[in-house]
Amino acid sequence: GTIGQHLLETVTAHGSAEALVDAATGRRWTYEQLLVDVDAVALGLVGLGVTQGDRVGIWAPNCPEWTIVQLATARIGAVLVTINPAYRTHELSYVIGQSGLRLIVAVSGFKDASYVDMIAEVRGEHPALVDVIVIDEPSWHELRTSGSTADRRLLDEIEQGLDPGDPINIQYTSGTTGFPKGATLSHRNILNNGWFVGELLGYTEHDRICLPVPFYHCFGMVMGNLAAITHGACMVIPAAAFDPAATLRAVADERCTSLYGVPTMFIAMLADPLVDDLDLTSLRTGIMAGSPCPAETMKQVIDRLGMTEVSICYGMTETSPVSLQTRTDDSIDRRVSTVGRVGPHLQVKIVDPLTGRPVGRGEPGELCTRGYSVMLGYWDQPEKTAEAVDADGWMHTGDLGVMDEDGYVNITGRIKDLVIRGGENISPFEVEQFLMTHPDVIDAQVIGVPDDKYGEELMAWLRVREGATPPDADAVREFCRGRLAHYKIPRYVHHVDEFPMTITGKVRKVEMRALAAELLS
Ligand code: ATP
Ligand code: MG
Repeated sequence: GTIGQHLLETVTAHGSAEALVDAATGRRWTYEQLLVDVDAVALGLVGLGVTQGDRVGIWAPNCPEWTIVQLATARIGAVLVTINPAYRTHELSYVIGQSGLRLIVAVSGFKDASYVDMIAEVRGEHPALVDVIVIDEPSWHELRTSGSTADRRLLDEIEQGLDPGDPINIQYTSGTTGFPKGATLSHRNILNNGWFVGELLGYTEHDRICLPVPFYHCFGMVMGNLAAITHGACMVIPAAAFDPAATLRAVADERCTSLYGVPTMFIAMLADPLVDDLDLTSLRTGIMAGSPCPAETMKQVIDRLGMTEVSICYGMTETSPVSLQTRTDDSIDRRVSTVGRVGPHLQVKIVDPLTGRPVGRGEPGELCTRGYSVMLGYWDQPEKTAEAVDADGWMHTGDLGVMDEDGYVNITGRIKDLVIRGGENISPFEVEQFLMTHPDVIDAQVIGVPDDKYGEELMAWLRVREGATPPDADAVREFCRGRLAHYKIPRYVHHVDEFPMTITGKVRKVEMRALAAELLS
């Protein structure tokens, strides 16, 4: 069915169950109350002339209105374009134009930035953008009150005309490797993915999911919101943007059973003294995903947060997102060393990136996924879609992985991340892992920088333990000598307090390369 049909079913089955809690303000909704707000906004959008297939943008940090707009657009078959709250005018203008937005719903401002001003600044370039609605300002209240409840029949009629295969969502990828691409997803893509993620975590209407992960990304809106809605579970928003203390407090106050995060978020929460002061015993499960998870972090998530059934997921925006997931009964060892097995009704294979032929178990290659989860395509970029999804429907992820005899997959890096030095292919991932064995190094990132002689040279960026003397390039090279092949030994070393990151927890190597060029010039 469609997202709207599933919402109606949940309201019928669990109408008085709590659906949504905004921990920051204490506002809360049951499923019945949520549907009232969703339908009000849906009718308001219809009143503004928004019809099936029109693109509607949402530009806001996590808040209940975000979820309401997500469901309202789904009710009327409009395509929700999720816009990263960290974007500024350049990226905003790109997304408005690239997706052809008709209407945008935004917060007036967040932190130091005025979103209203930024929209005003670029609006002149986009005549197709007819309406701007500002959450909590008169335009939002008008939107909510303009349709009459008698029009509900209209929504039912619209629902009849929707198809689960229709596009419902354009989500821009994180932009880790380049400019973000607009993955276009259908009801079927994301509804199934949310459902299966929830199934594998054993969600019921008694679960309460703490969501510090961004809604504009699949992690929040599919693995969070849609997993909850398809199971009658409750979505708990700890704060507009990630804050370790607020998240831990929301878990304790709301008795959350599940908690999501990228590894960096869990590392920050585990470092917060509140971990030992608050009662977190309600936690049972949760998801850690988005980037490789350090084994030590995983162990502490289980031992100190009590998330004994925590799961690791691997996915990408283009596949709705999850394609591999550890099961709650997988051994701890498997959960710290792999991203699990293929999800229900999906296929994965690992191929030689040059020949496209599957490699043997235990051999590295490019991970490919096929099934209901594969996106309809990149919005308005058929050539890019054809590069990513082949004629047989396989999504080529661009990630390198190894599958063991039992089907568990280990992600070992990104193809695009390869550094080629004097004809030698080097996986930065491997060098990073090695550098982290240095007693003073807590995190390492390695990039290739242009070099006249070798084409590329390796540069390591290191974060060292507090109080340690940062080892200089010679000391690092000395540490590597005899233990790493000579061509994998970094030529340059740079020390940082933190790496440039995307909100989804990924290191922005594009930015590192630009900064490195400045440092070396
Ligand atoms: P872009 O495609 O714009 O460069 P991106 O690939 O980072 O950005 P996303 O779709 O948000 O955008 O992220 C998907 C990627 O995240 C995957 O391709 C993979 O590289 C990485 N990833 C996701 N989950 C995991 C995981 N559990 N372990 C390791 N890497 C992961
Ligand atoms: Mg990607």
